[in-house]
Amino acid sequence: MKNDCTSNVYEDIECRSSETICLPKTTLKRLVVIGGGFAGLELVKKLKNKPIQVVLIDKNNFHQFQPLLYQVATSGLEPDSIAFPLRKQLAGYKNVNFRLTEVLQIKPKENTIYTTKGKITYDYLVLATGTATNFFGLKSVQKNGLGLKDIRDSLNIRHMMLQNLEQATITCNEKEKKALTNFVIVGGGPAGIEMAGALAEFCKYIIPKDYPEFSASIMKIYLIEASNKILGVMSNNASSQSLKYLKDLNVNVLINESVIDYDGTLVKTKSGKEIQAKNLIWAAGVKGQFPEGLDQNNIVRGNRLKVNENLLVEGFDNIYAIGDVSAMITEKTPKGHPQVAQPAIQQGKYLADSFLRALKNKQPKPFKYSDKGSLATIGKRRAVADIGKLKFSGYLAWLLWSFVHLMSISGFKNKLLVGLNWTISYFSYDKSNRLIIRKFKKN
Ligand SMILES: Cc1cc2nc3c(=O)[nH]c(=O)nc-3n(C[C@H](O)[C@H](O)[C@H](O)COP(=O)(O)OP(=O)(O)OC[C@H]3O[C@@H](n4cnc5c(N)ncnc54)[C@H](O)[C@@H]3O)c2cc1C
Repeated sequence: MKNDCTSNVYEDIECRSSETICLPKTTLKRLVVIGGGFAGLELVKKLKNKPIQVVLIDKNNFHQFQPLLYQVATSGLEPDSIAFPLRKQLAGYKNVNFRLTEVLQIKPKENTIYTTKGKITYDYLVLATGTATNFFGLKSVQKNGLGLKDIRDSLNIRHMMLQNLEQATITCNEKEKKALTNFVIVGGGPAGIEMAGALAEFCKYIIPKDYPEFSASIMKIYLIEASNKILGVMSNNASSQSLKYLKDLNVNVLINESVIDYDGTLVKTKSGKEIQAKNLIWAAGVKGQFPEGLDQNNIVRGNRLKVNENLLVEGFDNIYAIGDVSAMITEKTPKGHPQVAQPAIQQGKYLADSFLRALKNKQPKPFKYSDKGSLATIGKRRAVADIGKLKFSGYLAWLLWSFVHLMSISGFKNKLLVGLNWTISYFSYDKSNRLIIRKFKKN
């Protein structure tokens, strides 16, 4: 993040970032947590009303449940049902202060962070800033495709899709119609396959109802994966079953293939394939994101921050990193922990416990991750599950997936909304939220 006063764009930010953000005066030590995602929020929850001042900073005033972004993107859920206001979450937390701002820079020597709204000093700092979409330097894809990383992305995808389908009913040009109704999803990980499954169901159940002018097979969905199998992060059983499910849903799965260029209409692949598509969704990777100010030596593969077994960023005794942005490199985890919700939640809990131990002058224990298993769903009634040695798929896996996700969403009302939506769509095969509220235009 650039914070350079010589550039006009940042001049105002620089001026404001030098002012001090107002916080209650206290004799307690101050812990600043950047990021109210899975890791940061869990940490803060566990420190509720403890003798430490906690300042939670996020650039959004809500916590979002990323695992269901694809359902917002495909009109299955409204954004409100997978987002939860941080202030509502923090009601009754007397020692916690939330500040809505984006952190631009850390100055470790001054124990100070600089944000778009002003500066804050800290005794301890926790980076729980997560990841951003990684386009691996493919500028044309970044410019013309859409990522799937937050609620804004998923609403962009929804509006792009609905507008393109409307346009396809208008145009008489067959080539354009094809491009408007072709969908390319890049990345065969959990996010990519779940997106492909949901789009395929949209095609199967919604197109015949909403768009009588189209043939049922008008939407062509391509899933492109660079490695030799989809869902490589899970077992072989999960990988082969999910491939079968996607094929049953008429998704064209291309493995050992990668996208090299996209101008907004034509997708070019490494092997020379060309696909006409005005809808490209990039779910092929993420990279750690954090404010500037830390040493290059702290950064490892995937732009993650190298932490020790107590989650301290190497070289510091008061700066921690947790969740997706951190990488605890050990013999057991040479690439760091998987960038999914469970390690983030467990690291948040662990770090809260470490702070509470420190308040009692006790040493922290090393962080140990307990793998609770992985789940992925491909449309309705089909999912794959790896739970310890147990590998299974089908309806039971889907029921488990639904239960786990429902229980993990923040807020009773959100659980109710999602549960109700799912029940209705289970029986009606309908998706209720197909409104084009705002005009979507990329760039
Ligand atoms: C499409 C998709 C599907 C997924 N599906 C699953 C799944 O099925 N199961 C699963 O376990 N995991 C899934 N994940 C991964 C899971 O969401 C992440 O592992 C998890 O969110 C990581 O938590 P975190 O707290 O590290 O980061 P995040 O949850 O990303 O939170 C980071 C927070 O930091 C804030 N922030 C960042 N930079 C700044 C800054 N400079 N200033 C202020 N605030 C800042 C952000 O606004 C955000 O609130 C999925 C992810 C995606 C994108």
